[in-house]
Amino acid sequence: MSPLRRGKATLGVGAGIVIAAALAGLWIKGRSQHGEMPNVLVVTCDTFRADRLSLYGASRKTTPYLEELAKESVVFDAFFANSSFTPPSHASILTGTHVRTHGLLWWDHKLSGSVKTLGERLGTPLPTPEKPQPNEGVGYRTGAFVNLPNFETMGVSRGFQKLSVATWLPGREATRNFFAWLDDPKDMRRWCSWIHYWDPHRPFAYREWQWLDPKKSPAEIAAMPPREKQRTLDLLETSKRPPFSFHEETFGTHELGVGRMEQHYNRSGDLQRKSPLFIPTASASRPFTEADDRYLADRYDGGALEMDEVLRELVEGLRTRGELDNTLLIITSDHGETFTERADEWWTHDPHLYDEVTRVPCLIRFPQKQHGGARVTALSSSVDLLPTIYEVLGLKDSELQGSSLVARIGAASNGPVAAVYSQTQNRKEFLEDPAREKGPDNPGTWRTVGTKISIRTATHRLIFDRDAKSFELYDLRTDPGATRNLHSAPPSQVEQELSSRLLEWFKGLPAGAGTEAALDDAALETLRKNGYLR
Ligand SMILES: [Zn+2]
Repeated sequence: MSPLRRGKATLGVGAGIVIAAALAGLWIKGRSQHGEMPNVLVVTCDTFRADRLSLYGASRKTTPYLEELAKESVVFDAFFANSSFTPPSHASILTGTHVRTHGLLWWDHKLSGSVKTLGERLGTPLPTPEKPQPNEGVGYRTGAFVNLPNFETMGVSRGFQKLSVATWLPGREATRNFFAWLDDPKDMRRWCSWIHYWDPHRPFAYREWQWLDPKKSPAEIAAMPPREKQRTLDLLETSKRPPFSFHEETFGTHELGVGRMEQHYNRSGDLQRKSPLFIPTASASRPFTEADDRYLADRYDGGALEMDEVLRELVEGLRTRGELDNTLLIITSDHGETFTERADEWWTHDPHLYDEVTRVPCLIRFPQKQHGGARVTALSSSVDLLPTIYEVLGLKDSELQGSSLVARIGAASNGPVAAVYSQTQNRKEFLEDPAREKGPDNPGTWRTVGTKISIRTATHRLIFDRDAKSFELYDLRTDPGATRNLHSAPPSQVEQELSSRLLEWFKGLPAGAGTEAALDDAALETLRKNGYLR
């Protein structure tokens, strides 16, 4: 295999060959210490709920491409995010540490300086005889392409040499930015990248509105790209459920106003008390109905399908460039989404720690399709990803809190006591306290946000609200949707055992420093503008 990452097809110009030859020298140094190291691509699809994907058995064909890709990849069936909240969950993916250690739990927190991101780990200079730096960095070219500006402020994208920051950019455009960076003929080093896509996130499938402006004439609608139409028609044939929102909107069976605005979601008790949800119509307004909820679920599936199509363009683009087989590709998500499962808050994710928000997809395509077609049922979570990358690259770091997933491929389970853990902020209590709502003008109050932690085994889930000091226990064998809280006083044996494991896990984690760095006014304003703060 060539020490260069690119195939001959891309080395067409003389200047490129000269530059490539110069960089090849660097790579020979890199190889002598680390052997052949593949490129690394971590893709996070925000709000990609595992059980809505046909890759994980959903009857609606939402991820036809991922099903194809699974034949040359490993799919992890019991994979969980370590948080249900975007920033901490991404920080766990990119640092290989749990929330308590990386220290990022709320919008005004910053990633602890004591943890290192993937970009910092792989992007630092190559070792030289004068400055050996063993395992301190391997000289990758690094680039992060993110769809949430606050990743930069919060330190999640720290260390990536190239940082492309956008707000809710359609996935295809994010992919174009990535390839524009990758295709730079002046830099032929091996690369490591993180792409954060936003397509499945609220307001679900919104990119369709680009095609569905109500002011469009029938002729303009008829001129929509054939692929958009064909995908919809294919889905209608394969699904017994009502049609996707795309189809409904195209043919006018649902009001265009529904689902277009963020306030039609997040149906928390708090929000409903203040502003009951009414849908503006042409003449007046009407209350939100169950049909609207079904419609929003349809829109969610439409966004998942859109994500699948974006992933197809990304992965096949790598294949066309001759990059795919020498790349360790990880496709996952930061959390799922609560639809109407929970009475207190709907169409959101971060207040909860149930399976619908923590169980996420994880598909890993190893270089040269190693282990292709395998499914892994052993429990695993986001903190295991960085150790997996390290194992494939032949690196070691004892500070990583997960463990490599490679050993779990082919194993029936990872043992009866295996468990995954997660943590999120207690936003509900926070938002319902009027004094705290003044937070944006007084950053100190934001630090008081509470926390929930959870342990999930193959059979049970236990959630502990550290502020309310309350427990929830679910037996997932008889109650997979976690609807019947089995918490009792005195606690049952299983509750005692799980609660002591959960608290021991939490207390045993090193607590990250630097968690209370307040965001500046500009950062808070960005959050408010995007609907995260009120
Ligand atoms: Zn997210």
